[in-house]
Amino acid sequence: MINLFSDTQTRPTAAMRQAIAQAEVGDEQRFEDPTTNRLRERICALLGFEDAVLLPSGTMCNEIAIAVHCRPGDEVIAEASAHIIHAEGGGPAALAGVMLRPVLAPPGGVPGTFDGAALREAVRADSRYLPRSRLVCVEQTANTAGGTVWPLALLREVRDGARALGLATHVDGARLMNAVVASGMPAHEQLAGFDSAWIDFSKGLGCPVGAMLAGSRAFIHEAWRLKQRWGGAMRQSGILAAAALHALDHHVERLAEDHANARLLAVALAELPGVRIDPASVQTNLVYFDVTDTGLSPERVVSELAARGVCVGVFGRGLIRAVTHLDVSREQVLRAADAMRDVISACKP
Ligand SMILES: *Cc1c(COP(=O)(O)O)cnc(C)c1O
Repeated sequence: MINLFSDTQTRPTAAMRQAIAQAEVGDEQRFEDPTTNRLRERICALLGFEDAVLLPSGTMCNEIAIAVHCRPGDEVIAEASAHIIHAEGGGPAALAGVMLRPVLAPPGGVPGTFDGAALREAVRADSRYLPRSRLVCVEQTANTAGGTVWPLALLREVRDGARALGLATHVDGARLMNAVVASGMPAHEQLAGFDSAWIDFSKGLGCPVGAMLAGSRAFIHEAWRLKQRWGGAMRQSGILAAAALHALDHHVERLAEDHANARLLAVALAELPGVRIDPASVQTNLVYFDVTDTGLSPERVVSELAARGVCVGVFGRGLIRAVTHLDVSREQVLRAADAMRDVISACKP
């Protein structure tokens, strides 16, 4: 099987399992796990924050950050395709009692991003009739917008705009390292001046579990209270931290291969009749393509591809998503494109 379903499908490599097996461990809750402590220092330096906390998932990073930044009834501003809006089980409402204010990406801009003008338009006036605008969330890379990268100028514009309006700022960095590798901008530069941010170890970095949320000392102190309350406090978490440290050493630079493979797939798909995709829009490892004009439903295409040993996911509105990652080689990507060509020529609508 060529598994292009998601970069969450990676299996820990033999070397990562070795690192896990050899991890020095202690009690994370008492800050006595040496490997988790090392990861914490590493992430603080990488992302440019004072403190950080290991959590079981990226979702918990987002939910804790929102709950620390906001009071019930507050409003969180995010681009309309954001993960916090669509894919966290209503967590912001259920756990933090906040409202979400989607901002549409301005036409002609980078999909999944917005600018200072869009932010100012979304911010509520100070009125007792209105929810209070409190937090601005940015997703780097913007997942369902196409894995697009927020340019540095736009990050700064939104950060400064938020600051001028008295809003807190948070970066969902599920695929931040993809943005770092694709753009060449160091993570700490992208995140400078933001109040909180996190990276996921279980996506392109190839770990089985884990994410780390970073912020000021005071912010992480409060985050720990919710980590405890919501059952995210661990014990010998060095097992997970060792995998993450291994990934930071060995799985970051190679993300460039995933991006090259994604572009290769996009170029091959663009040549197929009825398949709509602009290869130039593929900046990282996420490849969304529209099969409406093939006359085949995305569900049919996905099941025909599965029968040919290629796993991809339906994304609604005629869209299919393929994701490149460390368990998919260049040669497998080319075979996946061949399978797609075969599906289109062999299947009648
Ligand atoms: C995957 C993802 C998350 C959630 O991370 P998990 O580790 O799956 O909980 C949040 N935001 C974005 C943009 C994601 O792609």
